[in-house]
Amino acid sequence: PKTAYVRTKPHLNIGTMGHVDHGKTTLTAALTKVLADRGTGGTDTGGGTTAYVPFDRIDRAPEEAARGITINLAHVEYETDTRHYAHVDMPGHADYVKNMVTGAAQLDGAVLVVSALDGVMPQTAEHVLLARQVGVDHIVVALNKADAVDGEDAVLADLVELEVRELLTAHGYPGDSVPVVRVSGLRALEGEPRWTAAVQALLDAVDTYVPVPERYVDAPFLLPVENVLTITGRGTVVTGAVERGTVRVGDRVEVPGAGVETVVTGVETFGRPMSEAQAGDNVALLLRGVARDAVRRGDVVAAPGSLRPRRRFTARVHLLAAREGGRATAVSSGYRPQFHLRTADVVGDIDLGAAGVARPGETVTMTVELGRDVPLEAGLGFAIREGGRTVGAGTVTSVE
Ligand code: GDP
Ligand code: MG
Repeated sequence: PKTAYVRTKPHLNIGTMGHVDHGKTTLTAALTKVLADRGTGGTDTGGGTTAYVPFDRIDRAPEEAARGITINLAHVEYETDTRHYAHVDMPGHADYVKNMVTGAAQLDGAVLVVSALDGVMPQTAEHVLLARQVGVDHIVVALNKADAVDGEDAVLADLVELEVRELLTAHGYPGDSVPVVRVSGLRALEGEPRWTAAVQALLDAVDTYVPVPERYVDAPFLLPVENVLTITGRGTVVTGAVERGTVRVGDRVEVPGAGVETVVTGVETFGRPMSEAQAGDNVALLLRGVARDAVRRGDVVAAPGSLRPRRRFTARVHLLAAREGGRATAVSSGYRPQFHLRTADVVGDIDLGAAGVARPGETVTMTVELGRDVPLEAGLGFAIREGGRTVGAGTVTSVE
């Protein structure tokens, strides 16, 4: 039997972001390697329960990885002296955008990976923009491939560092004060002491710079469903990050709008049973007697009676300007883009009231009628997407 997860440290959700090939996956593997080696290093047990996760096990296609009651296929887990982390690393830019805008990643902080050889690239900028939109307030920069700009080329790294700080400042982050750590994921994986120390310095920066967010553990339980799996012999399992409240084995829960009311028969994190999951935890819940197709990504599992799905709401929306990656042309009432609310992706009709039209770059009030009911509440953030790109970001102001 698997050993239970015992909560001894605060849990945070973080992730790598940045341009393709800048070394996100290599660095993710290196983080686990450095901590796993500490964990087995005699008196220095700072790595806690961290297990090394090699590159190939992080960067595979999600379908290939469905085994057991895993949480999220892109997640790895590690532990520093002071915290337990779930770390998400996405295989491609499209996966990244989707998980960021839907909020599935629920990041408390992010490690922005920038190759010191290549500098800021388009996806670097887009991920910073997305991070800002979805409320990731703390970013630590890993200036990666520092091994390749050693010696006389070090000035290149200085230039890239300036460029990253400017990019962050331009998006409303404190670019002058964010930690920028020069690392080499590749050399740290190979065990070179100088670079394992650099990776440790990056972890220290994350530990100190990213605060533990406030967790609403006393609110009614709510889990936005990220994934639904069937475990042979056990039943239907839903995975995701707990948004608020707590849940234990034996608790009654419902899936509002899906006609499902049931009992939680298993709670796991990273394949280990836990006595109680709370806000911020990445979990898998086993649900008694629920058919695989009764629940889908975008639904929520909630304390019975705590939520009612709706489809009409009013919101304040910022339409991205063309230079922010938004549309080139105005939108009018009747426009029907996709709305990404929590993990749900739903078409919606917009009504701009008397104005009737809104231009890219403007912030406007709109009424939205979704194509189906989803749990809504004032304050809920969402993204508006069209043809695979983000064209707006908004907040629900009232629900009808
Ligand atoms: P990702 O697309 O951002 O996940 O990038 P990968 O981790 O797949 O790395 C892309 C390429 O860069 C691979 O060939 C890596 O071996 C190489 N790479 C990653 N990190 C480093 C590094 O620190 N130094 C050097 N020299 N190469 C690296
Ligand atoms: Mg990768």
